[in-house]
Amino acid sequence: MNITLDPQSKTPVYLQIKQAVVENIQQGKLALGARLPATRELAKELGVNRSTVTMAYDELIADGIVESFVGRGSFVARRHLMETLQGNLFGKMRGHNAPKKMAWEGMFSERADSIAIESLLDLYQVSTLRDVISFSGSFPDASSFPTREFRNSLHFAERALGDEVYRYGPAAGYERLREYLASRMASAGAEVTAEEILITSGSQQALDLIARALISPGDTVIIENPTYPGAMTAFTLAGARLVGVPVDEHGLRVEVVEQIVKLKRPKLIYVVPSFQNPTGSCLSWERRLQLLAVAQEHNIPIVEDDYGSHLRFEGDALPHLKTQDVTDHVIYVSNFSKSLLPGLRIGWCAAAKPVISRLTALKQNSDITTSPLLQSALWDFCRRKRYEVHLEKVRPIYRTRRDRVVKLLGEAFPDGTTWAVPQGGLFLWVKMPAALDTTELLYQSRQQGVVFSRGHLFYVDNPERNTLRLSYGHVSLEQIESGLRVIGSTAKAMLARSTSRTAEKFRTHTVPLV
Ligand code: PMP
Repeated sequence: MNITLDPQSKTPVYLQIKQAVVENIQQGKLALGARLPATRELAKELGVNRSTVTMAYDELIADGIVESFVGRGSFVARRHLMETLQGNLFGKMRGHNAPKKMAWEGMFSERADSIAIESLLDLYQVSTLRDVISFSGSFPDASSFPTREFRNSLHFAERALGDEVYRYGPAAGYERLREYLASRMASAGAEVTAEEILITSGSQQALDLIARALISPGDTVIIENPTYPGAMTAFTLAGARLVGVPVDEHGLRVEVVEQIVKLKRPKLIYVVPSFQNPTGSCLSWERRLQLLAVAQEHNIPIVEDDYGSHLRFEGDALPHLKTQDVTDHVIYVSNFSKSLLPGLRIGWCAAAKPVISRLTALKQNSDITTSPLLQSALWDFCRRKRYEVHLEKVRPIYRTRRDRVVKLLGEAFPDGTTWAVPQGGLFLWVKMPAALDTTELLYQSRQQGVVFSRGHLFYVDNPERNTLRLSYGHVSLEQIESGLRVIGSTAKAMLARSTSRTAEKFRTHTVPLV
């Protein structure tokens, strides 16, 4: 610690000592928790009276800058030091006002301020409420998690692979997991090698990387309408203009895509061919081929988001777009979040090598790599065929839950409600009578302890406000039964009120009969 006293100064000597201690702290010469010299020692060193040093220390203690302990001495305080230095001391010693809190309003980038972020947060906030029966979020059934088997794989990964799993792994992912995924895709008919696979932290990261790799501000992206909000946010935040294309019971309306492609020259097409989120529909075989043909003719990449084809519990599976993609137009994205454990945060992306190398560089910049420990444990879990066993176990559970939802929709929901029955996946899309706004319905159901995803969050534009998505994957049969009865009766009561209001309007406004 350096202390130089100025005998000519008008500042009393004890305050000069105090100020010098503060400056030593600010300059890092005295660390937090450092011991100050004993008063006797310092007085001797500075050639001043010991009581002068004691006064200086007392002031420092009073300001919370120094802590004193009987028999141990005085130390630079650890807690609240910066606040004390800035607030009390600078204010008092230099005549400044205490500093104001950082004003964050207006500091955020246009991206962070964009409304798109809010809709995704909205979706996840409703889905993580704990004190309710929640049909929101598309989560797998937690009671079926293969925790014991996965724990065994974690132990194996640790024991067999040693400290390798605790290092930063390769950015593109754990080699053996990439090989496993490539062979799995090959057995499904897609010609993909391990070098054409990038492991990502969930498929949301894959979408974000793809958006950043391919989209420049102002580019057009063709997307289903309604669609998965996380895809909307990923593309919008990269600066894309989204053009929504309607979805029917056979999936994306590819004939509309064809028309738009001619007008807008889109940069990419995003599609969820299996159990589309949120409608649950599957893209028909004819449309799959038609979509590939459009992409090939106009040189447009297709992002195929296959979050859930492995969750089919009835009907015939259709091959992925990637299996038909001999021309490298398809960037395939998938994950283990819906079919196994969302908390693993492991997904992957399969595409031509130039795409994978760009995405890998971007990923490295974003999070360096996905946890090697979890990747290697997942590889072990899969190679022991535990993944297939798990899928066999959960599919019938989801079918039973879907059936129960369908039964309740028929029994408890208002007349005029329609829905499509999905052959797999974790949710079901419902259209209520047109007079019913599901945001209001959500609000009222929430008061009674039941929530769902209101439909308008899934729309790119022209939202149908009478829609909602009911996720059943994580909801028990008892909860489905009681929760859907609450939503149904609340909806009926809302409709009855709106009908009586309309009747009232007719009574008070006489309409000429022409
Ligand atoms: N795509 C779709 C269609 C989804 O529904 C989701 C998650 N709800 C994701 C991607 C993101 O999945 P992950 O948890 O693997 O990031």
